[in-house]
Amino acid sequence: MVIAKDFVVEIDYTLTNNEGEVLDSSNGREPLAYLHGHKNIVAGLEKDLEGKKIGEAFKSVVTPLEGYGELNSQLVTQVPKEELASIPDLKEGISIQAQSSNGVQIFKIIKIEEDKVTLDGNHPLAGQTLYFDVNVKSIREATSEEISHGHVHGPGGHHH
Ligand code: ZN
Repeated sequence: MVIAKDFVVEIDYTLTNNEGEVLDSSNGREPLAYLHGHKNIVAGLEKDLEGKKIGEAFKSVVTPLEGYGELNSQLVTQVPKEELASIPDLKEGISIQAQSSNGVQIFKIIKIEEDKVTLDGNHPLAGQTLYFDVNVKSIREATSEEISHGHVHGPGGHHH
């Protein structure tokens, strides 16, 4: 059995950045379960998993374009400070959830001035090349319910 669209795949992975710092890992946790071919994971990694077998270990280098996107300066915005008056402990470096035209979004506060605040709505990993170390743990056919929902049910997956 090889990884193809509409298969549920479990992987162990470690994600490092260009400096070799570990950003995320399934180490010490359950493997990550995802539904292949449904954009559950970043495009570059999904592409590299295509055709792999159980037990295969490999490295996947994902460019920003096939990862979390390039940094977009249009996602950096300034708002009047009073709009954020309800947020306790407002300080530079923290992330907040706010309503935007794309729904609820995470913004990082990058600068606080007397009367205005600069927010960055880029994904924290935008603009970064991602280095995945991957080990394929299991592959099974998805149920029709999983395919219609576009995600995995059961252990490691989505719970309703
Ligand atoms: Zn579901």
